[in-house]
This record gives sequence, C-alpha cells and structure tokens, in this order.
Amino acid sequence: MKLQCYKVITGKLRCESGLHIGGSADQIEIGGVDLPIIKHPTTGEPYIPGSSLKGKMRSVLEKKVDVFDKNGKITETDPCGCGKKDCKICKIFGAHKNTRHELGATRILVRDAYFSNKTRDEYQTLIKEKGTSYIEKKMENTVNRKTGTAEHPRSLERVPSGAEFDIEIVLQVYDTDKADEMVGFVKEGLRHIQSTYLGGFGSRGSGKVSFSGMKLDGKDISL
Ligand SMILES: [Zn+2]
Repeated sequence: MKLQCYKVITGKLRCESGLHIGGSADQIEIGGVDLPIIKHPTTGEPYIPGSSLKGKMRSVLEKKVDVFDKNGKITETDPCGCGKKDCKICKIFGAHKNTRHELGATRILVRDAYFSNKTRDEYQTLIKEKGTSYIEKKMENTVNRKTGTAEHPRSLERVPSGAEFDIEIVLQVYDTDKADEMVGFVKEGLRHIQSTYLGGFGSRGSGKVSFSGMKLDGKDISL
C-alpha cells in the first residue's frame, strides 16, 4: 500500500446557536463557571479540537451502519473496531482498539479549528473597547417534574452564535483507495453534523452549526 496523494477539504464552520465544547477540569478557574469551554492556553480564544469534529463525524456516520467491536460482535456502545477491508468507518477513522487490522494508517486528519480572521477581529475589538468577553455565559437548570421548579442551576459557557471557525480536514489517499468515495463520506459526515449538532447540550439547543465556503484542494465544492 503506497501513499498516493492528500486531499484537503477546507471551509468555514459557523455557529448558528451557542456552541459548547467542554474544557478539561484543569482549566477550571476558582470562582469560574461550572461548565467552561475549551480555550487556547495562551490566547484564551475558544477553539474546536479536531478530535471533537472527527469524533462527531464518526458517530453520526456510524448511526447509519452496523458497528462491530474488534471481535466482530455488534456493539452499541463503542466505535467500530471491526477492521474489515470494506468498512469505510474503520478505514477512514481507524479501527477502534483493534491493532490486528490491515487497513494501514487512519486516513482522516482533522485540524483544530480556530476563529476566522473576521471573528477574531470582532472578538478582540469587544475585549479592547468594551472589556466584555466574546464568550456567552448561560444558566442551565434541570426542572423537577413533580414541583415544576428549576433545580441544580449550573453556569455554562458557549461560543455565541455568529462566530466562525476555519476548518481543515486532510485525507491521506493510498493507491488502494477511492479518493472520490472518501471525500463523499466526509461530506456526508459534515451534512449530518449540520442536521444535528456539535459539542454538548445539543438536545437543549446548543451546537447548531453550518458549513460554508467549502473547498477541495482549493476548488469550490458543495456539501
Ligand atoms: Zn469497522
């Protein structure tokens, strides 16, 4: 199996609602919010880890097929690890926990997505001129069904709607691969994310995103 070429898919991800991609516990500041979002350690800007976008694409695509563990049993809890030659999930995203497959390298590489220049300018202007943060803080409650009262309020950070991120997805195409089919699969994954959500609290309205200005190797494509 020889590496033949790279296919690079780029575009903009726009938040149509607030987006919550959780930060790790060590980023939680004293007196800060309960559910912070992930931020760049030096600039403080929110970003979308490539693993979040990749993981979501994988999970929405896995909903359309049967998913097997590394022993070939159907699983509902783990990502696919079947390692079979005709499994597009395992080939493109990697065979979960299966080290005995012969699929070669994981084909997809999803870069961390940072603010577009336009959004970064807006973000920095807000901080400079108004001293406000570009990050939305929202209170989340759970409602007690018996009493109808809100309980356990938690503060939740979100990237506000309107923010845009530059995304980049690279496909490593081997001589045994069909490049068009792989690109089609990625596009399908992105369409499913558009129809569902990205990040946390999707069933409560967070994480609606849209993709625009998509390009394949610099040439316009539609999703
Ligand atoms: Zn598989």
